[in-house]
Amino acid sequence: MTGIETRGTVRIDIERCKGCELCIPACPPNVLRMSSTRNEIGVLFPELLPGCTGCSACALVCPDFCFDVYRYETPLHHEATA
Ligand code: SF4
Ligand code: SF4
Repeated sequence: MTGIETRGTVRIDIERCKGCELCIPACPPNVLRMSSTRNEIGVLFPELLPGCTGCSACALVCPDFCFDVYRYETPLHHEATA
C-alpha cells in the first residue's frame, strides 16, 4: 500500500476568493478542488486535500492573494484510503 506524503500546507483566505479557479490546474500534485459551498460573495473556493508539497504555485497564480504557503520541516505521511 502506498501512502501520501504532505510536505507543506496552505492557509486559504476563502473570503478574498473570487472563484476564478486558476489555482486548481496550477497545483502540480492536484490537491486543490473547488468547494461545494459558497463564500460570503457567493462563489466556490478552493479546498486543500492531503499531499501539498508547499511549492507555492497556487500563491503565484492567484490574482487575489488568497494563499499563505507553509513547508513542514518533517513531512507528514498518510496512509492512502480506499
Ligand atoms: S503549495 Fe503547491 S502543492 Fe500546495 S496547494 Fe499550492 S500549488 Fe498545490
Ligand atoms: S486562484 Fe485565488 S481567486 Fe482564483 S479560485 Fe483560486 S483562490 Fe480563488
